[in-house]
Amino acid sequence: MRNLVLVLGDQLSTSSGAFYGFDKSVDVIWMAEVEEELTHVWCHKQRIVFFLSAMRHFRNELKRDGFHVCYHEITAEQSKDAGRDFCSVLNRDVHRLNPSGLIVTEPGDYRVKTALEGCARELELKLKIVPDRHFYCGIEEFASYANGKTLVLENFYRHMRKKHRILMDGPNQPVGGQWNYDEENREPLKTEAAKVLLTPKQFEPDPTTKQIVDLVLKRFPDHPGSLADFALPVTAADAGKMLRHFVQHGLTLFGPYQDAMVVGQPFLYHSRLSALLNVKLLDPRVCVDAAVAAYEEGGAPLNSAEGFVRQILGWREFMRGVYWLKMPGYIENNFLDHQLPVPHFFWDGETDMHCVQETMRGILANGYAHHIQRLMVIGLFAQLYGVHPRRFHEWHMALYVDAVEWVSLPNTLGMSQYGDGGIVGTKPYCASGNYIDKMSNYCHACRYNPKATTGENACPFTTLYYDFLDRNYEKFRHNGRLKFQLMNIDRKRRDAPAMLEIRQRAAELHARWSGQQ
Ligand code: FAD
Ligand code: SF4
Repeated sequence: MRNLVLVLGDQLSTSSGAFYGFDKSVDVIWMAEVEEELTHVWCHKQRIVFFLSAMRHFRNELKRDGFHVCYHEITAEQSKDAGRDFCSVLNRDVHRLNPSGLIVTEPGDYRVKTALEGCARELELKLKIVPDRHFYCGIEEFASYANGKTLVLENFYRHMRKKHRILMDGPNQPVGGQWNYDEENREPLKTEAAKVLLTPKQFEPDPTTKQIVDLVLKRFPDHPGSLADFALPVTAADAGKMLRHFVQHGLTLFGPYQDAMVVGQPFLYHSRLSALLNVKLLDPRVCVDAAVAAYEEGGAPLNSAEGFVRQILGWREFMRGVYWLKMPGYIENNFLDHQLPVPHFFWDGETDMHCVQETMRGILANGYAHHIQRLMVIGLFAQLYGVHPRRFHEWHMALYVDAVEWVSLPNTLGMSQYGDGGIVGTKPYCASGNYIDKMSNYCHACRYNPKATTGENACPFTTLYYDFLDRNYEKFRHNGRLKFQLMNIDRKRRDAPAMLEIRQRAAELHARWSGQQ
């Protein structure tokens, strides 16, 4: 045997770097379901089912195509000698199979990469880590792009558009004359659009998935979330169907209603492709090309196509670049010195804040919330309340089907919590309940009033927003992008009794939630 090619749970594609030069007569693929990966953070049941089912389907396809695969399944009962982590399982196989070397595509998690390197050292085997060709921008390419620059998403995005000639009119001009249609893409949902809501595409679980559902219910019954609505694709073929469904039925309204939130509509016009992309059942180029083709053929307006391209070619690539550029230190950042654990209702959804309740309902049912719910409801609450950014990231890793560390960490700790002090975003995404009221219909049916700052009916977001600005005033003082927020808090601070009331109400809210951890 020549090489043992390790395929991790988020590397389910034969176009992965590790498959280049693969020789079926001498190389063997190694895949393992290991308990540590499912339990090192508390994990939503749908996340476990999705990963295991996608892995087993991929294994079956590889075998069908003549690859030799060494695969470890976990079972409903834990066997005594079952390895808990990659290294213990790999160790036994290496002694049995005696390969000359190990190959793996760049893992999506610094912890896993370090563990595999340590494991190879122990085994005295050469581990070749090959670049992940799934992404438009390699880790080294991003590092050389970033060298000497202040990182700004917009600049990186334009660079990527030009480099890959996507939605370009000649080498330097964007199609339509604008790089960015964000101004058109911030509509709250109007009733005409609500009549043509995207019907979510559902994939009936097949026998393999059903078997894993049973396994998870037996083995991980206490894990959060429900499996009742599990209907995600778990193969590349079905992932392609999901993409086509979105481009045909969702893309047109994706742009304008990207930031809208509606009671009872956890998906709206969002694509739900993130988990499929992150385990590599879908290629980002295929997604971007499909959106561009829809625009060019008159099937989608430019603001929607550009908005979608920006998410994948811009944000997704940018986040990965930042993660690998800044790790391992990045995870330790805590610019605002927040120390609290996530509140109990992040696990069970039991709260009287209607916006949080609605978002949590979707998360527990689907392992999903769309971007603006993540950023401007759950993330916003965590930031204003003062959750430790790493704890918030760990919670996010546990509850979302699409969470892989390279993408979760910069989004949670960076974009959402401003824990990195301005690497991912130039200012904190902070707002009062008025923002949620403007972009959703959550507040109509809430016991709180988004406009009230103090008193029993004051919206907790609004009270905590002013308290947050007040607490962090010195840290934000020189941030020009927070000028208006600081002017606001200055005005409040000039009214000492009003400011005192806000601080007291914020303290009451903290006392209420900390008593319920
Ligand atoms: P759509 O709204 O349809 O967008 C299309 C695609 O663009 C997504 O599938 C995704 O691949 C990409 N995308 C959009 N925004 C981002 C972004 N900020 N970073 C990276 N890719 C992006 N995304 C993850 O894939 N995994 C995560 O663990 C994750 N954690 C997040 C945590 C927070 C606090 C926030 C604010 C965002 C997070 N995101 C994460 C980004 C984004 O919210 C999700 O990718 C998106 O909501 C997934 O739903 P969708 O596929 O319907 O996306
Ligand atoms: Fe959320 Fe406040 Fe609106 Fe209630 S009033 S839904 S807590 S923003």
